[in-house]
Amino acid sequence: MRKLVAGNWKMNGLKADGLALARALVLRAAAGDPPECELAVCPPATLLAAVGETLRGSGIALGGQDCHGEPSGAHTGDISAAMLKDAGCAYVIVGHSERRTNHGETDEQVRAKATAARRAHLVPILCIGETLAERDAGEALEVVSRQLEGSLPEGLKEEQIAIAYEPVWAIGTGRTPTTDDVAAVHARIRKIVKERVKGGASTRILYGGSVKPANALELLGVANVDGALVGGASLNAADFWAIAQHCP
Ligand code: PEP
Repeated sequence: MRKLVAGNWKMNGLKADGLALARALVLRAAAGDPPECELAVCPPATLLAAVGETLRGSGIALGGQDCHGEPSGAHTGDISAAMLKDAGCAYVIVGHSERRTNHGETDEQVRAKATAARRAHLVPILCIGETLAERDAGEALEVVSRQLEGSLPEGLKEEQIAIAYEPVWAIGTGRTPTTDDVAAVHARIRKIVKERVKGGASTRILYGGSVKPANALELLGVANVDGALVGGASLNAADFWAIAQHCP
């Protein structure tokens, strides 16, 4: 499987901004010298249709930033996985730490969301990661293992899910773990994924947290790092493209 570099635009951008960014990526894709990896962008829900239209035929995939665990019903303000699929998505981020923190999402809810995503034929990008206090207490591996065990659905095949290791303290801070620390966590994630996912040796495990053009080569070269989930730097087409170009 090719590596995956996915951009999480979070709650940023009005239509003009999102379309300008998408067009800038499409222009780069059309200009030749495409990256070796697969690219995806996850705009805010309001921009999915318009960005999806702009990306059509470019080879750049579309993703949502969250979905509900139920297929439909009385859930004001929520979006179902089938709605995302209908809007042209191939991916959906689930369990991002900002949702776990700001919306109190539990592993159980994240697991329901990942299951709903699979039922709608989307690939969930399942996020896990420790806080700074947990890392300082030497609990990173334990926390990440517990989150993964609790939020990973049963019965998946290798390409039906991607995992994103995102240390909470590295998101949006400019700080990153050492490559040894990334390798240790990704090795633990690989072990669990191999036990729980059919063909899990090739399931993609992304690193996320302050990935920039300057550190992408190093981070993407770590063992068991099969791509990146990029926040801030994905709002700049040149930076996002440069990160993707660093995919070995
Ligand atoms: C993220 O929030 O998924 C993320 C990785 O953000 P940033 O790249 O800005 O740290």
